[in-house]
Amino acid sequence: MVKSETVAQDKLKVGLEIHQQLGSKNKLFCDCKIIDSSEYDFTFKRNLRPTQSEMGSYDQAALFESKKIKTVKYQSSKNANCLIESDEEPPKMVNNEALELVLTISLALNCTIEDELHVMRKIVIDGSNTTGFQRTILVGRNGFLEVEGARVGIQSVCLEEDAARIINEDKKEDETKAYFLDRLGIPLIEIALDPISNSPIFVTTVAQTVGRLLRSTKKVTRGLGSIRQDVNISTEDGPIVEVKGVQQLSQLPLVIEYERKRQDALNQIANELKKRKIDESSFIDKVTDVTQLLSKSSSKLVKKILTGDSRFTAFVLRGFKGILSFEPYPAIRLGKELGDLVKVYGIGGIFHSDELPNYGITPEDVESISAVLRMDTNDAFVLIGGPTKSLNTVLFELFTRIRKGFSGVVPETRSARLDGVTVFSRPKPGSSRMYPETDIPYISIDEGMLKQLSQNTPQPWNEIIDQICKKYNINKTLAENIFDSKYFLLFEKIVSHTSISPSFVISKLTEDLVSMEREGYDSSILSEDVLFCLFTELDNSRITKESIPLVIEKLLKNEFRDVDEIISSFGTESISEEYVDETISKIIHENAIVISQKGLDSVGLLMGRCMEVLRGKIDGEKVNKKLMTKLTEYLQKSKG
Ligand SMILES: [Zn+2]
Repeated sequence: MVKSETVAQDKLKVGLEIHQQLGSKNKLFCDCKIIDSSEYDFTFKRNLRPTQSEMGSYDQAALFESKKIKTVKYQSSKNANCLIESDEEPPKMVNNEALELVLTISLALNCTIEDELHVMRKIVIDGSNTTGFQRTILVGRNGFLEVEGARVGIQSVCLEEDAARIINEDKKEDETKAYFLDRLGIPLIEIALDPISNSPIFVTTVAQTVGRLLRSTKKVTRGLGSIRQDVNISTEDGPIVEVKGVQQLSQLPLVIEYERKRQDALNQIANELKKRKIDESSFIDKVTDVTQLLSKSSSKLVKKILTGDSRFTAFVLRGFKGILSFEPYPAIRLGKELGDLVKVYGIGGIFHSDELPNYGITPEDVESISAVLRMDTNDAFVLIGGPTKSLNTVLFELFTRIRKGFSGVVPETRSARLDGVTVFSRPKPGSSRMYPETDIPYISIDEGMLKQLSQNTPQPWNEIIDQICKKYNINKTLAENIFDSKYFLLFEKIVSHTSISPSFVISKLTEDLVSMEREGYDSSILSEDVLFCLFTELDNSRITKESIPLVIEKLLKNEFRDVDEIISSFGTESISEEYVDETISKIIHENAIVISQKGLDSVGLLMGRCMEVLRGKIDGEKVNKKLMTKLTEYLQKSKG
């Protein structure tokens, strides 16, 4: 088997679909305010059924989803929801503030805008909308964007309603899927770009440029989760794989690189299968219940799976020896693809002969399974264990997936992990998912309105950054960092209410918080109010510049309720000028010998001793000043 390391760049195509929440006051089809609310006043349940599209065909993805979930639970809050989100009342007319913003952005992206806009229903199959569909309006199409001198095509710009927020992402098999309704109905812009054949870095620059254009309007939500990228990736003119939920720009090149390798690996596996001339119509053989056989196994894992109403089934893959563990790239192999597939049904118990004996399954176990299955030397077997009621469905999906292995890449929807690895989530939905919304009349767009909006198109990014540089007297990097971050508005508020230097505020709000996130802290638990309070207390000299990282860390650890409580715990309030003076004098006297030898050069050592006592209680600069004065006095006295 030949392992190749790269795929030619011109054979890689990446289509971006960028979703960004709009910062409008109200939702898209009702007057509810936009607020995060994990509290709820009532819950209700709905049953999911695969919906037949207008064309009369069942969507493959919808059928897949319906095998997994039957009932969905929704939690609704009075503050964030009305009856429209629960689908008990028809939607109102589209939110004009949101529509104008999307029209403005479409104009900035050089799109064609129709004079009639129609609200459409897009079938949603995972329960993330109470209606079973998502409302969407195609606003602009056939536009373009200049990026580093190249023209990138814009396919469409849509105004959509956001989905409900899932509560139990990693739900157990017997648990009902549940959603909060606070996010449902928030206006969202969706920008779909033409496929790009260029480096992953260039694709990332394109995404960054679109994100910056959106932020330039100053009317979109900022922060993690408010912008989401779906990435359609194909290689060698093969099928398109859709990767959903890329939330961070830094993830994007990693995801593209991973998919490029994964798709190449699948093609290599397909080539190897073709070379072996396996009969595609009969290679899956001897599907056999081996529960009895494995009930005597000493494997802890097997025992764990075999509790309750669970069984083990094994089947042969003729001519497959070595295929399931063939690894063209590290950790990319068919065996893993199969494992990921059964995981979406909540089944973790899948093993294959290429990796056995292992997991406590002994050579004797393997031998008896092989004997029952009448294995030939070139064959492989798959062993799968789980609840009886889901096992048949899973086996069917498994067979389908293995058969598709002969053609290489499978068109499917995957989700992205932070490190760029993508994981199977469901078959790719077909195109028969849209039909007209009958509850809302069409919206007519007149020339005059567009003319007026075209005067409000966002200022170019460079101009905005230049203005921020001048206004706050900071360099370009700092200006970009803060304008790209979710804290830009908070930054402006802090700087206008305090006398703290803008560059100091930026370094704390960007670099410091990012480095704490890298250490594993979740900065989203810090509210803007808490951060604002932190800087006003600094301005009031209740805390020092040096103690800010410490206070932030304590807040992130959730040890204290608020900044005030942390300050009290420092005892900072009781620290007096006299205490500081006394501490410095004491340290000077304790170190008389060193001072007599080194004179003024001992200041570094003394400063260290002072800060051991005073750190976080008083500004280091102040201590240094006082120490210099006292040390000079002391030296003069001891001379005289
Ligand atoms: Zn509402």
